[in-house]
Amino acid sequence: MASRPITSVLVANRGEIAVRILRTARRLGLRTVAVHSEADRDALHVALADEAVAIGPAPAAESYLRIDRIVEAAVRAGVHAVHPGYGFLSEHPGLAEACAAAGLVFVGPPASAIRAMGLKDRAKAIVAASGVPVVPGCEGETAAELGAEADALGYPLLIKAVAGGGGRGIRRVDAPEDFAAACEAAGREAESAFGNGRLLIERCVPSPSHIEIQVFCDAHGNAVHLFERECSLQRRHQKVVEEAPAPGMPEAVRQAMGRAAIEAARAVGYVGAGTVEFIAEGDRALAPDAFWFMEMNTRLQVEHPVTEAITGLDLVEWQFRVASGEPLPLAQDAVAMRGHAVEARLYAEDPAAGFLPSTGRLHVLRLPEGEGLRVDAGFREGDTVGPFYDPLIAKLIAHGPSRAEAVARLRAALADARVAGPRTNLGFLRRLTACEAFRAGRYDTQTIARDEDALAGTGAAIDPACLRRGVLALLERDRPPATGGAASPWDRVDGFQLGAARRQVWPLRIDGRPDAVTLVWPEPGTGGDPEIHHRGAALRAGEPGAAEVIATDLGVLVLGADGQVCLEAPDPAEGAGERSEADGAVTAPMHGRIVAVLVAPGDRVVRGQRLGIVEAMKMEHTLTAPYEGTVAAVDARPGLQVAEGASLFTLTREASA
Ligand code: ADP
Ligand code: ADP
Ligand code: MG
Repeated sequence: MASRPITSVLVANRGEIAVRILRTARRLGLRTVAVHSEADRDALHVALADEAVAIGPAPAAESYLRIDRIVEAAVRAGVHAVHPGYGFLSEHPGLAEACAAAGLVFVGPPASAIRAMGLKDRAKAIVAASGVPVVPGCEGETAAELGAEADALGYPLLIKAVAGGGGRGIRRVDAPEDFAAACEAAGREAESAFGNGRLLIERCVPSPSHIEIQVFCDAHGNAVHLFERECSLQRRHQKVVEEAPAPGMPEAVRQAMGRAAIEAARAVGYVGAGTVEFIAEGDRALAPDAFWFMEMNTRLQVEHPVTEAITGLDLVEWQFRVASGEPLPLAQDAVAMRGHAVEARLYAEDPAAGFLPSTGRLHVLRLPEGEGLRVDAGFREGDTVGPFYDPLIAKLIAHGPSRAEAVARLRAALADARVAGPRTNLGFLRRLTACEAFRAGRYDTQTIARDEDALAGTGAAIDPACLRRGVLALLERDRPPATGGAASPWDRVDGFQLGAARRQVWPLRIDGRPDAVTLVWPEPGTGGDPEIHHRGAALRAGEPGAAEVIATDLGVLVLGADGQVCLEAPDPAEGAGERSEADGAVTAPMHGRIVAVLVAPGDRVVRGQRLGIVEAMKMEHTLTAPYEGTVAAVDARPGLQVAEGASLFTLTREASA
């Protein structure tokens, strides 16, 4: 334990939690060092630190999970301390030990406490021995070992990987005949995911509430709790929305849980910030004898800001103080609770596609600011959400004098937030925070699952008015200046007979998926907007002015009163154009038939100008100029069948372009 104040710190993490820790470190005047993988060279957390050290390639196993590289970076940078954040190495006793061996202060609990709480079965045994109620169950490796106990516990029950975490490795079994197979599958899964096939089985608490207690201990034997957090709004055992205090929490139960949490922490000689997670029966009122210990997380928790909001404390500051050997800043009776706080986790994921992580550049990222609102973001507008790490974009934390006010602030913030690029769970969060169960403060860990399709917006229709606005805006933008803007693209085709081909299929990405609209252009010379069809239906104009159109690099984001649509036109410089960039050729994107040739050798063209149209499988694809230049050769003529990759136009690049 260091006996001097910490004056410098290396943050062994990334994303919003690294940013959040760096902010407090800077406020306290610490010298700050960030680490980053190759993928994070330009990340926000790197920009915020005084110094940054590259620690390896993008995959976490080769960078953020490399204890040796992190410790080496800390030693080289000459820092006092290492803060692990959450996730990654935060619950790896090896980092705590390696720091100690290198003379660095680990901003976290002793390795022995991490180890004691690291496996769920051992943690439960230690905690139960100190008199804290734990969920009834037992541990073992095989169905044969566990079968008799399972029958005694009764069904439904849960199988957990003792080494599991982050909501993974948990299985519910409803009937005895499914037990053996479930055990076998869970064991295999646990072995491959966590390198430890050991399982525990537990009584499945009916309509469960997840309520956890924030604890803090110092190295002088002091321990306090900072009240509870209600974290039952979960999807597949992963928290989505958290709040403090828990709605309807009687003071007597709060005290009982707080005492039990401190007991659990003391049982392992805990020092620093930790969270003790309990499960309670949600279908009866919270009672002092109806909650059970599940596990302890020996780190700062994702949802710690709701506790900061209601206590007015900075938990990261407390972590630094405790790690430097100071006593806890406050005694239990000096910790007060003020108002109510709610947090929502904004993820780059696609609720309509099973919540798969979604990647890409954040063309628009506008998160509101305002009274009673805190936004902890790991990204800025223009940053890219990559495929390598947890896709948490930001946390929105609202605080207010009452629950109703905090919830109203969160809902307003979610309504005002704008994100374009990767798909996000923003719509899901809006619907979730609008649902009756949440607004009434009466929900359990199954609330989301009961209504998941509706909350996720699976199969929700694209708002036609927004789509139409977006297509018109895209047309405006992608229309080459040479066509003069107002007229249809057909007007500029001198002497070319379009016949019935005024229908033009325009391939677009709509809400991130390959899709298309059909444009039906008015007679040449008559002017006006084309009719726009989508999936066989004509799109009608909505309320004028009801939609806001935000330009993105690849297209537009249209925000209407009720919905939003993200449209992306294939970049003329990408795809077929990419190859042509190198050799000057614009090639056929697929096997098809040339239906129009819009330029002749010697023509000067601007970037994005239409060169010709290929028809394949009843879809028309417009070929455009990848850059400004002069048409050197035309190998296309109407009616010609062409093979994918065939060179159709050759352009020479404008020297000045
Ligand atoms: P909370 O802090 O709210 O308990 P989680 O339990 O979901 O949040 O975990 C916090 C972070 O740690 C998440 O990024 C999660 O993915 C990660 N995490 C937790 N346990 C593990 C584990 N055993 N393996 C991998 N990642 C984990
Ligand atoms: P992890 O380490 O993955 O966070 P936990 O043991 O904390 O695993 O459990 C994660 C979630 O699973 C809990 O928040 C809760 O929703 C659910 N859960 C865990 N144990 C039980 C139980 N005995 N009964 C009902 N639900 C449970
Ligand atoms: Mg947990």
